[in-house]
Amino acid sequence: MTDDCLFCRIVAGEIPATVVHETDDTLAFRDIDPKAPVHVLVISKAHHRDVATLAVADPALAGTVLAACAAVAEQEGLTGDGYRLIFNVGAHGGQEVFHVHGHVLGGRPLGRMLS
Ligand code: C5P
Repeated sequence: MTDDCLFCRIVAGEIPATVVHETDDTLAFRDIDPKAPVHVLVISKAHHRDVATLAVADPALAGTVLAACAAVAEQEGLTGDGYRLIFNVGAHGGQEVFHVHGHVLGGRPLGRMLS
């Protein structure tokens, strides 16, 4: 737990969130500013700054977070038509909350990001 981290405070129950999936090591909740009909954030309960630092510090937990993202996509009914999974890293990557989180986005065609 990092006192000044928003997502650590959600894990601790100090800030409300609409939780849709939880395991011993992960938590998934709806984004407060959704960019698609389904927009869920999947985090590790342990504090890691971003997915790159998590992958180095604890590769097994990184895999667990990915598995939780897949489970959320399945639970939200996204696997048939597909979905997007985004991990922003650092300022140029658009990361605003520095606690690792995967964005699970779907429910409409999202178009091509890179062209
Ligand atoms: O990847 P990035 O750090 O930019 O994403 C942070 C996300 O956290 C944003 O999509 C924002 O809407 C979301 N958020 C949230 N609940 C909060 C604060 C931020 O879902 N209390």
